Amino acid sequence: MVFDLHSHSNYSDGILSPEALMSRAKERGVTVLALTDHDTIAGIGPARQAAAAEDMTLIAGIEFSSQWGKSGIHVLGLGVNPESPELLAAVAQQQDAREARAKAIAVRLAQLGIPGALEGAQALAGGQVGRPHFAQYLVAGGYVRNEAAAFKKYLGAGKPADVKFQWPEMAQVIGWIHGSGGVAVLAHPYKYPMTRTKRCALVADFAQAGGDGLEVISGQQASGVAEDLAKLADTHQLAASCGSDFHRPDAPWQELGNFGTLPARCRPIWSMLGYAA
Ligand code: MN
Ligand code: MN
Ligand code: MN
Repeated sequence: MVFDLHSHSNYSDGILSPEALMSRAKERGVTVLALTDHDTIAGIGPARQAAAAEDMTLIAGIEFSSQWGKSGIHVLGLGVNPESPELLAAVAQQQDAREARAKAIAVRLAQLGIPGALEGAQALAGGQVGRPHFAQYLVAGGYVRNEAAAFKKYLGAGKPADVKFQWPEMAQVIGWIHGSGGVAVLAHPYKYPMTRTKRCALVADFAQAGGDGLEVISGQQASGVAEDLAKLADTHQLAASCGSDFHRPDAPWQELGNFGTLPARCRPIWSMLGYAA
């Protein structure tokens, strides 16, 4: 079995529909795919149907945004029950928080002489509005040359339309995941802008708070990263996960199934999801 346990559809900030995502995963040799859209499970139903049609296995998942001190941390919930009342309540709370944030970003942009950003971003998003949609709106309106420039000038950390946001505590999010029958995995530990010392403290806190696994492989990584994370997982008795973090077809470093295998020392997270290690 080939596991890819981190992917996005157009129900969050991915480009592909769950159906297109599933058939691309199959083409790439993936046999078990977790759909882990940001703070939403709306794509799980269609993904489940698509998986059945393609003879693939879907793991119902979610990527929660959470807070650890001043850092925004992503926690994957894998094998969650999409009908769990606790999960539905958590998702509703996260959606409210995202909406409030989107409104605040639009207010900032209006103050900077850019009107209509909320409606514009909503039209581009289809579903949930995120900063990438504001970036697209700024490009479409001719305010910036490209999306990178939109972040550099307006939306990125410390820029005028950067709205600081308090997500729920990491420990609370782990509790939500457990309450809905899933396992909690700390996503892409190397993607957070923090020192090595701080990253080690983060992993220790995550394990302390009841976290189950570490994403030892996240797409194409620099050499040594997986081995380093495997050691860290060992130290804190965490299982290991692997996933592409796929969002779009034109990013080969985050392509479905396109990553190395877990180091031999790892205890794969799928053994906690009912699959043989
Ligand atoms: Mn994303
Ligand atoms: Mn993430
Ligand atoms: Mn992701």
